[in-house]
Amino acid sequence: MPEVLKAPLVVEFPFARSLGPVQSAFLTGLRERVVLGVRTTDGRSLVPPVEYDPVTAEEIRDLVEVAPTGTVTTWAWNHEPRRGQPLDTPFAWVLVRLDGADTALLHALDAPGPDAVRTGLRVRVRWAEERTGAITDIACFEPYDGDPAEPAGHTGEFEDVVTGIVAPARLDYTYSPGRAQSAYINALADRRNVGERCPSCRKVYVPPRGACPTCGLATSEQVEVGPRGTVTTFCVVNIKAKNLDIEVPYVYGHIALDGADLALHGRIAGIPYDQVRMGLRVEPVWTEGARYPDHFRPTGEPDADYDTYKELL
Ligand SMILES: [Zn+2]
Repeated sequence: MPEVLKAPLVVEFPFARSLGPVQSAFLTGLRERVVLGVRTTDGRSLVPPVEYDPVTAEEIRDLVEVAPTGTVTTWAWNHEPRRGQPLDTPFAWVLVRLDGADTALLHALDAPGPDAVRTGLRVRVRWAEERTGAITDIACFEPYDGDPAEPAGHTGEFEDVVTGIVAPARLDYTYSPGRAQSAYINALADRRNVGERCPSCRKVYVPPRGACPTCGLATSEQVEVGPRGTVTTFCVVNIKAKNLDIEVPYVYGHIALDGADLALHGRIAGIPYDQVRMGLRVEPVWTEGARYPDHFRPTGEPDADYDTYKELL
């Protein structure tokens, strides 16, 4: 049995979002060390604020300042802080109902250990030294035994309001492609494409997933396909991806390798983007040391007949 591969995999992208009037005031307020909520028509104060009443769905815009002090309503201890979390020492995740609010805000509580945390604990905001208009402007909460702070009655009107944020989204995990794809990836190291054939319908899957999704049967017969193939469908990419050194516009397509019954995808280059077409015959282009083709380029052969790839779109 060949070794099943395993490797760390990080999927990461910056997510830019506009804030709208309520979140904009909330985050601008944090920058100015003011915590704002919204007041519903029945008089409840929601912190963090939302734009629509969760009970009546009514639009709410009535901003109200609450105190930077409050009470822990529930909590969980975090033994091992991970990258990007509010504190780099063990801390408690807490829901805090700030004085003057009717709902609770999720944040971190700096405490020496779980024995120092309890529901009902009084806490206050510890402000970050540098504030930019983000939830991290609250560095964390800390235990507090003084009186509730008195909010100054801020109306939510600010100069230079924050209108958008960029929130990095990141998934960080260990990925194992399984037996079939491990064999596929190992073959790619020799610049060969190895798929697997279904024992019933005879379809050859590339990359193989270990089973035929149509017949529900395990696949094991290995079949080498390609290296040439046919563009079955494609798109023109006009948005430049961060950290990707490819000039736009470029073409990304589905390519059915010769002998395969499933198209895989790849970039198509070596031809002006507006001349790429369905049926174009292509071959892989490898760069030194790469584990998969950098792109596919035209072979110069006549285009494939539509009937030969119409099932592979
Ligand atoms: Zn099958």
